[in-house]
Amino acid sequence: MRHFRSVILSEAKNLYYDGGDPSLHKTPIRAAFFLTVIVITMLFGAHRATARSEIEMELSAAYQFGEHVTFTGRLVSPIQIQKASIFIHDTTQVVTHVQPVTFDQNGVSVFRFDTRRNVLRPFTTILWRYELTLPDGSVLQSATASIRYDDDRFAWQTLETDALRVHWYNSDGDFGVSALNAAQTGLQNIRGFFAPILSPPVDVFIYANESDLRGALYGAEAWVAGHADSAAGVITVTIEPGAEQGILMEQRIPHELMHVMLHRRVGAGYRNLPAWLSEGMAMLAEAYPNPNYAILLRDAAARDALIPIRDLCDSFSPRIDSAFLAYAESRSFTDYLRGLYGADGLLSLANAYANGVTCERGTERAFGVSLAKLERDWRVAALGQSGVASTLGDVVPYLILLCLVVFFPLVGIVNAMRKKGDRHAPERYAGRK
Ligand SMILES: [Zn+2]
Repeated sequence: MRHFRSVILSEAKNLYYDGGDPSLHKTPIRAAFFLTVIVITMLFGAHRATARSEIEMELSAAYQFGEHVTFTGRLVSPIQIQKASIFIHDTTQVVTHVQPVTFDQNGVSVFRFDTRRNVLRPFTTILWRYELTLPDGSVLQSATASIRYDDDRFAWQTLETDALRVHWYNSDGDFGVSALNAAQTGLQNIRGFFAPILSPPVDVFIYANESDLRGALYGAEAWVAGHADSAAGVITVTIEPGAEQGILMEQRIPHELMHVMLHRRVGAGYRNLPAWLSEGMAMLAEAYPNPNYAILLRDAAARDALIPIRDLCDSFSPRIDSAFLAYAESRSFTDYLRGLYGADGLLSLANAYANGVTCERGTERAFGVSLAKLERDWRVAALGQSGVASTLGDVVPYLILLCLVVFFPLVGIVNAMRKKGDRHAPERYAGRK
């Protein structure tokens, strides 16, 4: 087991970002490395006995990345306890796990927290404390301690500016410079939408291949190549060193950076943004749009196989083909809205959603136009679908309803007149529409 590691960034302060000029300063760069300090026991003396109901405890934690975190609590003066619980708070996902714990005769409790089952993400800060109930019913609590759950399987190198910290392994310093440049380009692109909030710095962790990232992102779909914990300001992406690395960096890093900056811009209501808008804006921040998206979009439009925008509000399908089409549509539709209402309009729309309006109502609030009309116009303007077909598309749900109301009972009556046994027919009928 690896013990808790205090992570210290070494100097590497000779590359500064001034927040005003997004170009990378061409000063010599020394890569910074994580220095690890093994701390066997963390004492939280400074936090002890600050409240009357607090009990003095020594708290320590250690973890095996990808498996578990072990929390240890020791009562400084053993007392009789009726029951005890540990509260573990995952700051990234804003969830608190509460579990019963026991203390041995030496006043020590050891609790093992499964990081896979609890989907603990890398580079997350975890807070924990204990609550003890005494035989007289009174409740005491320990101080709160914290541990950062870093992915320590790799020897990370670091390069930083005031606003960004890029971390990588398996490659030389030039790789890090390119990645930092890509992140700077991302910030520049984001400035085309709004002024990014640059403090605290955003951490960008670059994995060298998908299986390394898989080991860190439990529960993600196999095709996911990047992820942003927007509230924590932590980005994880896969970029394989090689001929494509420059393009991949300029797609993936600005994309994830936009998620973080948009979250900072609109605040906690970010989670209420429709997926098509947050993904669309993230894709517009990419330096090189993936050309496959345009091909996919044209093909789907020609086959009349586009996913309705209202179906892209909550989340995208985990299936790779549907998800790619969802991304392609989100980018195109968001770009269309930017053309109509400008970057300011997109931010107003994002703020409207962050304030809690529904997916369908957001565009009415921000632009005075329904989502359905905007989608219809986008299909005509951006994808060349005919207005008649699109209008029909709007009417189809009502036609289906009409069919169900008028014909479904007829079919049911006809079927009832037949011999029993074909009870699936009406379902197939309805489903075919
Ligand atoms: Zn995204």
